[in-house]
Amino acid sequence: MAELSERMRALVQPHLAGIEPYDPNFTPTRINLSANENTYPLPEGVREAIDAALAETPLNRYPDPMSNELRAELAARHGVDPACICVGNGGDELLFNFLLAFGGEGRTLLNCPPCFSEYEFFASLTKTGVRNVWRDRKTFAIDEKRMLDAARDADVVIVTSPNNPTGDVAQPGFIAQLCRVCPGLVMVDEAYIEFADAGTSVQNLLAACPNLVILHTLSKAFGEAGIRCGYVIAAPDIIDVFGAVRQIYSVNVLTQAAALAAVRVRDAFAPVVERIRSERERVAMALEAYDWVDVWPSQGNFLLMHVREASSIREQLRDDYSILVRDFSAAPGLNDCLRITIGTPEENDALLEALAELLDDDA
Ligand code: PMP
Repeated sequence: MAELSERMRALVQPHLAGIEPYDPNFTPTRINLSANENTYPLPEGVREAIDAALAETPLNRYPDPMSNELRAELAARHGVDPACICVGNGGDELLFNFLLAFGGEGRTLLNCPPCFSEYEFFASLTKTGVRNVWRDRKTFAIDEKRMLDAARDADVVIVTSPNNPTGDVAQPGFIAQLCRVCPGLVMVDEAYIEFADAGTSVQNLLAACPNLVILHTLSKAFGEAGIRCGYVIAAPDIIDVFGAVRQIYSVNVLTQAAALAAVRVRDAFAPVVERIRSERERVAMALEAYDWVDVWPSQGNFLLMHVREASSIREQLRDDYSILVRDFSAAPGLNDCLRITIGTPEENDALLEALAELLDDDA
């Protein structure tokens, strides 16, 4: 988006005058591997179940504000009480509400970039100060010691696991320590957790860590980014706050119905997730064969690669091959980095073939 007009800069709240909204940098292409969506067709029967649920949903009534049926289904899936869950219009809404409620003027978000840029954006919207503890420049490992030191003065902490865009996971032991030392709330964003190895989620820590908040979404493993449905799991008194600050009807009736139908059959997604995990390893191995390319190990449905002239490679992929990937070259700490979503085997082959041509030209 262009900068605000001079007139608007004078009219908006002063802290919003320089705001740069998140830009997914989307261009329609034949193959879109830029937004970490699940590009596989929905498993058999899922679309039919969603369509049937939508067809039965009255549109003339306001939605149930707390999505109670969906909440109960999610609670059963996670083995928690429904009072421990708040559903939102995508994970994004919950991230915003988290900072709205627990951040704000005079408060500090502890962040460990490079990570999902929305955290800093929502911090700026809510006037929350940001303390960045940068990851290792080469490995992107979290600086656990500095994070633990900084957490003592933080009001909110967000750690992404697996991290977008670097792909690594946070160790549950480290998260437990963070929760112990932080006087405020610690959110672990598990948007991509279904793609990670078993035992990676910090859900087991919830009982011992009353200040832990876990974020989930149906946008990634469950292939429903268009539905806009995310949820947080946390202690009931934290959930009460999420419930209090939210716009009451943000999760509309169609989202609730579609999400409920999808969550009821969510086991059907397991083979798709398995496939994406194995494709991820296949694509990583193929990319590692190039001298010019570095790939970081990833537990998400994406890979971060460092390649000379990344912006030019991304443009050629888009313009000459109609394949869209995400360019992070301009992001601090991610010079010459591209993030590629793992797609279907056909999509991945098309990407690898295109890269083979481009990288051979480059040699
Ligand atoms: N967290 C992370 C780390 C993400 O990458 C995303 C989406 N890109 C989200 C949260 C939000 O997802 P959604 O709003 O689609 O639920």
